[in-house]
Amino acid sequence: MDCRAGAIWDERYLAYDFGDHPLNPVRLDLTIRLARELGVLERLDVQPPTPADEAQLLTVHSPDYLAAVRRASQDQSFTGYGLGTGDDPVFPGMYDAAALIAGGSAQAAMRVWSGEIPHAVNIAGGLHHAMRDHASGFCIFNDVVLGIRTMLAAGATKVAYVDIDVHHGDGVQAAFYDDPRVLTISLHQDPRTLFPGTGAPTEIGSGAAEGTSVNVALPPGTDDAGWLRAYNAVVPGAVRAFAPDILVSQCGCDTHHEDPLANLDLTIDGQRAAIASMHALAHEVTGGKWVAYGGGGYGLVRCVPRTWTHLLAEATGVPVPSETPIPPAWTEHVRKRGVRAELPATMGEGPLAPVTPWAPGGETWLDAAIGATRRAVFPLLGLDPHDPRD
Ligand SMILES: [Zn+2]
Ligand SMILES: [Zn+2]
Repeated sequence: MDCRAGAIWDERYLAYDFGDHPLNPVRLDLTIRLARELGVLERLDVQPPTPADEAQLLTVHSPDYLAAVRRASQDQSFTGYGLGTGDDPVFPGMYDAAALIAGGSAQAAMRVWSGEIPHAVNIAGGLHHAMRDHASGFCIFNDVVLGIRTMLAAGATKVAYVDIDVHHGDGVQAAFYDDPRVLTISLHQDPRTLFPGTGAPTEIGSGAAEGTSVNVALPPGTDDAGWLRAYNAVVPGAVRAFAPDILVSQCGCDTHHEDPLANLDLTIDGQRAAIASMHALAHEVTGGKWVAYGGGGYGLVRCVPRTWTHLLAEATGVPVPSETPIPPAWTEHVRKRGVRAELPATMGEGPLAPVTPWAPGGETWLDAAIGATRRAVFPLLGLDPHDPRD
């Protein structure tokens, strides 16, 4: 397997900073430091991001929204277009900070699509809630939509997008809801219990794109084994049936059991297994073409750095074993920053619980949820919703 991997990174990403807010850029800094200490970073071909220009951003956002973000960058009293809210407060330079992340995601996509490298990761990306004409859910520009649109413009005919963030990937789904070239799959906590309130299994795409929006609404409390059962029952079958040219993953890690904003119960090891599954799926279905973005994740110290270091390592084809000790230099750095919380000793949380396959007729909330998604979209993808082999 050819697992040469690139990453898009430099410290300018840390300027995407809402201040006193759950999305703190320290999580990116601690991820890169951990990846460096473990020797992961040196196995990646790292390029600095180039900001998306206005023409690129106009493929995703409306002209008046872009103008609003420009104004908000200079005028801290600006409100409107979802800006100046608790979720998306304005800050100086927000246009440039968001454009840099969007540009990085377009760059990651094109490094893979052009054939330069089989895998590319932009951990600052994955801002999946941003809409065409407004900010939402900590997201200003939708870098994921830009990455996918960039590849479509460069000749990709079919793109599969798998979003494992705890929140519904609503902005990406909305952008491609009527576009049969893009399969969007989102696994998330049931929208009746969590922001943004969309992502029901009945949202299946429209017109010629019916069957290309796939939503798995997971009960609060879903753990590693349950989450992976849902993933295995929906994602590989749907992606194989769609037969994309390229796989794009949004790897939000706010499904973690300690995440302060949501209620799923995954461990670092469950998230690591999900990432490894998407990587393997790319080798099986797209000849290895795999673009991975970050996303949510508010366990800034104990979760995000470990999970996204696993993401970076997985992309290089040399995963970091779960029992690997956390390098003392990383722990010292975190302590020097004044963090008092108990810090992890290893890169995982113990052995992964066994995963049992989904079977039709299960009566738990989880199995009913999986069944609802399969019944809604599998026939439209040429699959049998009742056959567990599909
Ligand atoms: Zn690979
Ligand atoms: Zn999220």
